[in-house]
Amino acid sequence: MIKFNEIYTTNQEIEMMTDAISKGTLTGDTYYHLKIKEILDKHYKKSHLVHTCTAALEIAALAIDIQVGDEVIMPSYTYVSTANAFALRGAKIVFVDVDEHMMIDINCVKNAISDKTKAIVPVHYAGSLCDMKALKALCKEGIYLIEDAAQSIFNTGVETYSDFSCISLHSTKNITSGGEGGILVVNNSTFDDKVAMIIEKGTNRSAFQNKEVEKYTWKTLGSSYSMDGIRCAFLYAQLLKWEQIISKRQKLVCLYQKQLSAFEIFKQEKHNGHLFYIKTKHKKERDLLKQHLYDNGIESVSHYEPLHLSDAGKVHGDFIGENIHTKDAFRLLRLPVHANLTEEDVYYICEKVKAFYE
Ligand SMILES: *Cc1c(COP(=O)(O)O)cnc(C)c1O
Repeated sequence: MIKFNEIYTTNQEIEMMTDAISKGTLTGDTYYHLKIKEILDKHYKKSHLVHTCTAALEIAALAIDIQVGDEVIMPSYTYVSTANAFALRGAKIVFVDVDEHMMIDINCVKNAISDKTKAIVPVHYAGSLCDMKALKALCKEGIYLIEDAAQSIFNTGVETYSDFSCISLHSTKNITSGGEGGILVVNNSTFDDKVAMIIEKGTNRSAFQNKEVEKYTWKTLGSSYSMDGIRCAFLYAQLLKWEQIISKRQKLVCLYQKQLSAFEIFKQEKHNGHLFYIKTKHKKERDLLKQHLYDNGIESVSHYEPLHLSDAGKVHGDFIGENIHTKDAFRLLRLPVHANLTEEDVYYICEKVKAFYE
């Protein structure tokens, strides 16, 4: 069976985790934490290692001080964490449509902005990029731009227009810290101190560690959001190979794009090889294609059910405007992409997709 996803390991993870234990400290600024920062600092303005991307989104929501009744605009076609983080703080979620690439539709955002809008949260679907410049232009005074960059590690960088980027290191993403993990990038430096406190349970512990204060106390709302030392060690092993991992995935996605160019597929050129999808005519056809692939030893998977149709989505949000492409969710099928997959596998999968349509 060709698996939809497989965890890729570099064979150095165990060695580094063992070494982390022998070094004796597994929390805070551990050896591997500092080594990771050397790599991340080349790409991101100020990054924090946290326990999930979900946590990174929650920290951003706390940092911009979301209050009950504030509105947060995001696509309905996304993972629950994008909405949950803001709904937890009492925000009303304003769901809008996506474009043909399944990323937030700029015109829909424009029409959804009100005087209650506090943040816009685009999702860089498939490790491709939303039009951040256009979104930034819509952010009047008091509207923050927070990127759900869960899927787009190393496809955003210091040049971003956002206030925060939230990246996932979950084992289904390109690079993992061993199951769960995330990176919060703070691009707006006015939030630097507050974010450091939120991550340290709402205390000024990091100022204490820098010897700026004599003792640390409770300063703001926060929680325990740091990544532990074992996962830092696992992540460091992966980050040493990040270029190889991503370029391997990019090649596979490009091969799919070439082989299946006659179909309605993921067409974006700039991406990090996170995923590849084909859009069938309708849900029924998708389910048949999925079964056909399965019968040929290929695992394929659908993706998000639009959040505005979910039980919690109905309570915490409203869909504003027309639904033209969000409903494509029901006819979208993702094909296998992972760093253990070979080009031969992709040729084989594409052959079977074409055979289905013949
Ligand atoms: C994976 C994912 C998340 C959640 O990431 P975790 O690290 O599992 O919390 C959030 N948003 C999107 C778009 C994702 O793909």
